[in-house]
Amino acid sequence: MAQRFDAIIIGTGQAGPALAARLAGAGMKLAVIERGRFGGTCVNTGCIPTKALIASAYAAQLARRAAEYGVTIGGPVAVDMRQVKARKDEISGRSSQGVEQWMRGLDNVTSIRGMPASSTRAACGSTGSCWRPTRSSLTLAAGR
Ligand SMILES: Cc1cc2nc3c(=O)[nH]c(=O)nc-3n(C[C@H](O)[C@H](O)[C@H](O)COP(=O)(O)OP(=O)(O)OC[C@H]3O[C@@H](n4cnc5c(N)ncnc54)[C@H](O)[C@@H]3O)c2cc1C
Repeated sequence: MAQRFDAIIIGTGQAGPALAARLAGAGMKLAVIERGRFGGTCVNTGCIPTKALIASAYAAQLARRAAEYGVTIGGPVAVDMRQVKARKDEISGRSSQGVEQWMRGLDNVTSIRGMPASSTRAACGSTGSCWRPTRSSLTLAAGR
């Protein structure tokens, strides 16, 4: 038996969560569907991880130029790429968890990890359960 929603939003990148919060706040009953990591491109592979990597590169570059600033470093400056990646993953992961907790904590919102079945305009989660919007209110916030 399909559950019914006023709207279904596909994607939890920059677009989906803000829309979900607005619609849920207006009293609509929603399903938010994400096939991958909550937070989408910006949080998981775009803005946040790239800026975390750039921050490490900047720290290394500045350390290598330390003498120009009157700072003495007792030896060569080395970059530990495992640590750089671990830091990037930690920052990104925390942001993704934050988006997921935000969505799961919203009243009127059911967060589903899965894929919509586009041919029927129903949304099916990884458990096999399916959902349908009650109005013509399927929002694609699925990025490019
Ligand atoms: C390397 C890189 C660096 C970037 N840096 C910046 C920056 O510094 N500043 C900035 O403003 N922008 C930056 N961007 C751009 C930014 O990431 C995008 O503009 C933004 O993520 C778009 O948001 P969105 O919600 O439209 O799509 P997305 O963030 O791509 O989210 C779409 C979501 O939909 C989900 N989805 C897709 N299809 C389905 C499906 N069939 N079923 C269920 N879920 C689905 C995806 O898994 C994803 O989570 C960068 C992008 C890249 C690639």
